[in-house]
Amino acid sequence: MSKHPTIAEHLESSGVSRRNFIQLCSMLMATAPIGLSLTSKKSVLQVAQAIGKTKRPSVIWLHFQDCTGCTETLLRTSAPDVAHLILDVISLDYHETLMAASGAQAEAALRSAMAENAGKYVLVVEGSIPVKDDGVYMELGSKPGVQVLREVASQAAAVIAMGSCASWGGIPSADPNPTGAVGVDSIITGKPIINLPGCPPSPYNLLAVVLEYVTMGKLPELDDIGRPRFAYDRVIHENCPRRAHFDAGRFAASFGDEGHKQGWCLYKLGCKGPVTHAACSLRHFNEIPGVWPIGIGAPCLGCTEKNVVWKMATFQTVPIHLATPPDTYPPIYTSVGGAKVGAAALAGAVAGALGSATYVYSQRFQSSHEAGVERIGADANHIAGMDEAAKHPVQKED
Ligand code: SF4
Repeated sequence: MSKHPTIAEHLESSGVSRRNFIQLCSMLMATAPIGLSLTSKKSVLQVAQAIGKTKRPSVIWLHFQDCTGCTETLLRTSAPDVAHLILDVISLDYHETLMAASGAQAEAALRSAMAENAGKYVLVVEGSIPVKDDGVYMELGSKPGVQVLREVASQAAAVIAMGSCASWGGIPSADPNPTGAVGVDSIITGKPIINLPGCPPSPYNLLAVVLEYVTMGKLPELDDIGRPRFAYDRVIHENCPRRAHFDAGRFAASFGDEGHKQGWCLYKLGCKGPVTHAACSLRHFNEIPGVWPIGIGAPCLGCTEKNVVWKMATFQTVPIHLATPPDTYPPIYTSVGGAKVGAAALAGAVAGALGSATYVYSQRFQSSHEAGVERIGADANHIAGMDEAAKHPVQKED
């Protein structure tokens, strides 16, 4: 086998079955059914063929101020085969957490990986980069981390900021940001940079971006903050399994209350799902169904949004820009009895035809307050006007 085998050659020599590879390609297509020229309008076999004949892409992975969660999400899928497959498809030539070398040996390994694939490797950055006081808060091999980033990025074909910290600073950049933590695109210019925010981000998004780049020779379409549209074009709220409760006006009002136990909507506990672009509601963490923040009863923090996570208070509610039709729901902060919420929801559905009758009907329940359950509704302006959150601009949906 050649020193730089194709993906198919490498998989064959590693004993990976064709079935497993096709499975991985299917997952990739499920992650990015549209938005990638690699996966659009093609069968899974055609996608597998296109990937198979491509040389394994060289990936250099650098750590900065991070918790290693982005690496963990790559390695700790609940299906170990998937993690191995990803590492078989890409050639992870330098990764401080995974490599056995340390010290001078590790430094030599980095130089060697850069020299062998100069101009061709994909640089993945995990963690934010401290720039305050000339980067004194983090050194790698006796150099400021920011200098190492500049050197390695200078010979990369493209740079991927893996996770919210690498994308725009993440947790280390939270006020007062003692190290001057910033994301990759605040430092590197003149290179294609793709942001894959998330805490943690999806490893499938990483794989999809790398494979699109090496098989098709181009990057996926990005939004205005550098995220690939195929993965960040919808807000969580659109596909949230609690959405029916939102529409029906059933809200958890505090942790552990009856609404929370029943799995009702978490909007009033500060859920940022209505403004957060990500696919967490469709692809749960580590392949485990139901395992993602909202799935386990925690409001979404908005970790894929630059101006939400660590910028807004955890329990602060966000303005809602799109009201679910009909927009004649009664006010969101009107209290109603829990036992009657179902009836109110039914009335809401009927009101699709009856218009303002919904509002009149729901008013009959206003005096009751049996289970701390409150009724949503109102149009977007009403909510935004009532909310403290309206004072804090967030990205507006198209
Ligand atoms: Fe789901 Fe949050 Fe939207 Fe409620 S507000 S439906 S919990 S995304």
